[in-house]
Amino acid sequence: MDYRHYAGGIEHCNIKNEIVSNGQQKRLVILGAAESGVGAALLGKQQGWDVFVTDGGALKDTYKTALSEAGIVYEEGTHSMDKILNADCVVKSPGIPDKAPVVKAIRGAGIEVCSEIEFGYRYKGDSKIIAITGSNGKSTTTKLTHHLLKDAGYDAALVGNIGYSFARQIAESPAAWYVIEVSSFQLDDIHKFRPDVAVLLNITPDHLDRYEYKFDNYIHSKFRITENQRDTDYFITNLDDKVITEHLANHSIHSHTIYFTMSELQQPNEGGFIQNEQMNIRYDGEELNMSIHDLSLKGRHNQYNSMAAGISARIAGIRKEKIRESFASFEGLEHRLEFVATVRGVDYINDSKATNVNSVWFALESMKQPTILILGGQDKGNDYNEIMDLVKEKVKAIVCMGIDNKPIHDAFDGVVENIADTQSAKDAVKAAYALADKGDAVLLSPACASFDLFKNYEDRGRQFKEAVREL
Ligand code: ADP
Repeated sequence: MDYRHYAGGIEHCNIKNEIVSNGQQKRLVILGAAESGVGAALLGKQQGWDVFVTDGGALKDTYKTALSEAGIVYEEGTHSMDKILNADCVVKSPGIPDKAPVVKAIRGAGIEVCSEIEFGYRYKGDSKIIAITGSNGKSTTTKLTHHLLKDAGYDAALVGNIGYSFARQIAESPAAWYVIEVSSFQLDDIHKFRPDVAVLLNITPDHLDRYEYKFDNYIHSKFRITENQRDTDYFITNLDDKVITEHLANHSIHSHTIYFTMSELQQPNEGGFIQNEQMNIRYDGEELNMSIHDLSLKGRHNQYNSMAAGISARIAGIRKEKIRESFASFEGLEHRLEFVATVRGVDYINDSKATNVNSVWFALESMKQPTILILGGQDKGNDYNEIMDLVKEKVKAIVCMGIDNKPIHDAFDGVVENIADTQSAKDAVKAAYALADKGDAVLLSPACASFDLFKNYEDRGRQFKEAVREL
């Protein structure tokens, strides 16, 4: 076997030509076979690599079929190191941490590790990329931006954490534009990935377990979205986010930076701002104006997301009139402040995707009625002080939904009069129903991961909706 130990550590494999000089194919090992891994495997195979897929767990049947049909060799439930350490390049799933022994061994052997977006990037041709990251709002903004492009007749694909992976889309149905939702884990292993338009929505502490519990490491990871950008590229970001502006004060960015803001005091000559309940986007000497009430997405956080998407669409060359029309026609996403039903005068809202306290802050901020808040699940070290003022102002009762509700009681006992404990979506909805009066809202916005009681946040949201419909 040909073990490749690059001198001086990691080197970028030049994969323009996948056949090495002695006639051997270059070997691509895919670590972790979920959507991104399978996508990279399919693209690698198509581009002439000798592909091997390895996953320490079980593979989904659909992925097994896709790999078998493409003639790709895979293993599950184990990592055969002799078939891994002869790789020229390893594409690592974003879910696998660096501390995993198999990753340590690969890095120790000096083999290049890249993320799936990095691998896909090398085969994107002359297509354009709008890449969207942030701690919250990625999916919403990615979907909205894609909608703006599609509605304007662009050949645009929606990829990343929603839909197909970037690599799979390139392999199966290449597009002229890619709107990519990018996580910090995907950015951790980029080398050349260079979006034409990079969007950074916000940065709040998240996933710190993967960043040595250092917020700075996580911030650095998010900013890598700009790392390879040039002055002809664009960086769209949030002027109201102190973490972002502080970082920018100390680090230079090569791309053309455009801000959006909610501050009444700011009116950037170029960028987005909200004034007198109107969203304004200035770009290329033109100004798009639109009442925030005409945006189909509600809530302050969605005004940020809309400004980011609107600026991206203007940069992509879409007329402001068309963008205005498309903003109004956009349908929101499931599990993000999703209106479920009104039952006996009480509105039920599913925000199951709110898995951190910051998301709950924005959900509560957008509530107009007295609110029964369903909170709880697997706590990631939450600091509930962040939402204390809003809870005092808007929350008339809390329904805990989780195995361990102690952190919620510790934070809110004595602050909120009624706190009920439940351990299923059905019981939580029943408890909320009993506590609500006509004109109130029941908001599922848990601030926690769902894995203690549910398969994932989608399962939690669907069980909640089902329980509401059964009332
Ligand atoms: P992500 O893909 O980053 O997880 P989503 O668009 O799925 O983001 O939204 C996740 C949660 O964050 C939802 O509960 C939503 O209400 C909230 N949210 C959406 N956009 C923002 C934003 N710009 N700032 C803060 N919270 C947001």
